[in-house]
Amino acid sequence: MSALEVEGLHTYYGKSHILHGVSLELREGEIVTLLGRNGAGKTTTLRSLVGLTRAREGAVRIFGQATTDWPPFRIARLGLGYVPEGRRIFPNLTVDENLRVPIERPGPWDIPRIYQLFPRLAQRKTNKGRQLSGGEQEMLAIARALLLNPKILVLDEPSQGLAPLIVQEVFRVVKSMRQEGISVLLVEQNVRAAVEIADRAYVLDDGKVVFSGPAAEFAKDEQRVRALAGAS
Ligand code: ATP
Repeated sequence: MSALEVEGLHTYYGKSHILHGVSLELREGEIVTLLGRNGAGKTTTLRSLVGLTRAREGAVRIFGQATTDWPPFRIARLGLGYVPEGRRIFPNLTVDENLRVPIERPGPWDIPRIYQLFPRLAQRKTNKGRQLSGGEQEMLAIARALLLNPKILVLDEPSQGLAPLIVQEVFRVVKSMRQEGISVLLVEQNVRAAVEIADRAYVLDDGKVVFSGPAAEFAKDEQRVRALAGAS
């Protein structure tokens, strides 16, 4: 069954036509990565499917339910957790206070369980958001999305600006979502790390899907990986 289906999205910012008919699918239990160069339209795709930017054409379905014109809070309540680029945690609230903000949905995730998954956050629970390292802020942003008890988790560049060891830690958590029955859509610049944990990959270029297939197949195409990953 499809957790998420995006069909023929056309999204504009004013007169700029950014997405030119983007279609993709996330099946239940999958980790799918959405790759592409800077400005390819990855963030715009995510914003269109979580309700933050309205697509002018196309359809979004979540577990078969058409959500194309729904506002973000309704999409969240349906069980879609979104971790935006740049984390967007509350800098002046403590870790613990940040965790008390999300919309609640019944399910297995609560604050004690979050502290088990992220012991670093437990150690820092009385620290303000702005006092956290980039990696801790990312963990807090993921934790907040998990408290929604999502069935789908959408992550926009979680590894951005993080040291390699912390990237590994964040990816370990993303990978573990599979065992939690959460389907994951992962936008990444860190191509190698993303294709390693993903089942399938899509590549966007200039607002169009130019590759879709098994992540392992993409990973084998060294030329393609290098073209996207730069020197990394
Ligand atoms: P990045 O990795 O840099 O975040 P991306 O693949 O996520 O890249 P988008 O952020 O979706 O790309 O941007 C796609 C295009 O839309 C770019 O050309 C960008 O300049 C443009 N764009 C993004 N946000 C806006 C906006 N608010 N208004 C106008 N144009 C925008």
